[in-house]
Order: sequence, then structure tokens, then C-alpha cells
Amino acid sequence: MSAALILFAYAGLLAFAAPGLLSRGGWTARAPRLGIIAWQMAAFSLLVSAALIGFALVVPTVQVSADLANLFRACVMALRDQYATPGGAAAAAVGAVLALAVLARAAWCVTVSLAGALHGRARHRDVLTLVGVPAAHLGAVVVDSDEPAVHCLPGRRRRIVVTTGALRLLDDRQLAAALAHERAHLDQRHDLVLAWSGGLARAFPRVRLFTRAHAETVRLVELLADDVAARSADRLTLAEALLTLAGSRTPAAALGAGGSTAAERVRRLITPYPPLGHLRTALTSTGVAALLALPLLGLATPMAAAAHLHYCPPGTVAAAPTAR
Ligand SMILES: [Zn+2]
Repeated sequence: MSAALILFAYAGLLAFAAPGLLSRGGWTARAPRLGIIAWQMAAFSLLVSAALIGFALVVPTVQVSADLANLFRACVMALRDQYATPGGAAAAAVGAVLALAVLARAAWCVTVSLAGALHGRARHRDVLTLVGVPAAHLGAVVVDSDEPAVHCLPGRRRRIVVTTGALRLLDDRQLAAALAHERAHLDQRHDLVLAWSGGLARAFPRVRLFTRAHAETVRLVELLADDVAARSADRLTLAEALLTLAGSRTPAAALGAGGSTAAERVRRLITPYPPLGHLRTALTSTGVAALLALPLLGLATPMAAAAHLHYCPPGTVAAAPTAR
């Protein structure tokens, strides 16, 4: 029970404090890749903690033994003791339901999110087959439309789509910068992290950490794609391309070069933010690693303390028939 309480306190603190801490100072715009990892690890840590709370209620701590047969018998004894009392059985039932419900809800919504994206892209590709004209020199498919737009369809049959409106308004260098932005999305599979974070936000819409993690990831993948594009393109040229494409609508299944974050991206391209610095990067990375380790520590600490406890009556385990 103590493990469940520790994990509950940790999960509550994380859900309450993490969104504010991760947003403080706008540091993620200076290190978008680390920012994405930090938000995702915070969300993952909360998910794991919630499932482990249930696990800690179901499984009582047992004496750790190198002898698997003895360990198994000790587990059976401890479980029998816990489930023999009405309170213990009820706590175990609540724990089992909690762990299964959290994991099943998350798995279902992430699967729905991925399946929806796959279906949307397949339909979009079918339309492109009918109306698009492949342009090998651009590595893209050109669609006849007055609206200036550049976007990509991730996945194994990846595509970059450019409208004739964009070809008219962008010069060669601006177009190359916009295409580099799209290739960054495709190469780094930003669609997968968005499907994951979007699935969690859909699964638990009242948990602010999950909804903020998704919103921030949507924003940060754009900043990251800009940074990658800026290695091969001039930053001001990319900013000019963004201004031209800013008003374009991106299809639901695609990732675009314009979009709602365009204003912040243009500012950041014109006046580059200073990098995060080695010390702050190291401290933040340590914090991210702690997000993964803390839920497991919360479960392991009382289990380790319990290693010195004897749950079974003296001689019971030794007297039990050897199951070999
Ligand atoms: Zn983009």
C-alpha cells in the first residue's frame, strides 16, 4: 500500500507541476528536440505511474529470493494473506481495474489516433493519384490550386505536395527551403510522436499534462523542422517562404509548412534564439532521465525494504514440496 501512496503522490505532483515547469522561460523554443523529449517523458511517466499504482495495490511486496521456486511460493503466500482480508481484496480489485483501465484506454486511443492518420493519408494519396502531377526535380507532387500550400504525407509511401499557387509565389530558394522543412518532418517521423501524444490527449482530455504535451509537441515539431531546414537554407529565405504559406490550410492527415505557429516561427527565424547551453542541457537531460526512473523507484523502494520481511510462517516454504 505504501508503494501505491508514494506513486499516487508522485503522479499528482507531476500532473499538477510539470506543465508549468516545462513551460517556464520558453526554453523549449531554444532546444525543440529536448523540449519534445521532456514533454513526452513527463506524459509517459504519468501514464506509467498511474498503471503502477494499480499494480502496487494488486501485488503485495514479497521477499526477494534467488531461488525461483521459493520466490513463487512466497508470492503465493503473500497474495493469499492479502486477499484473505476484505480490505486487501477490495484494494487489489481496485488496483487491477485501475491498471487495466489506464493501459487499455491509452492503448485504444493511441491505436485509433494512428489508424485515423493512416486512413486519412491513404485517402489523400488516392486523391493525389487522380489530380497530382509528379515533379521529379522537386521530389514532390504538384496539385493545381490557387492557394499557396506545401505539405507532406508521412509514412512508407511518403509524399510532399506543392500547389501551383505556391510555385507561382515562391522563388526557387524559398521553395527549396519549404521542401527542406517538409523533408525534415518525413525523415524524423514527426507523425509518430504526434499520433502518440494526440492519442494520450484524447484518452485523458481532463489531464492537463497530456493535453499540454500534445499542444507543445505540435508546436515544437514545427520549430525542429525549421532548424533542420535552416542547415541547408538561409533562415530569412525560410521565413519569407513561411510568410507566403502562413495562411494555407493543412489537411488533417498531413504536416504543413504554414500553419498556426507561423508567427512565432518567423520571429525565431529572423532573430535566432540563443542555444540552451551545455550546463542547462545537461541538467534538463538529467531531469528527463529522472522522469523515467522515479515511478520505478517509487515501486522499488518499499519492495527493497520488504526484502528483509518474512511473509510466510517459518518453515512453511522449506516444508513445501519442491516443484521441480
Ligand atoms: Zn511543418
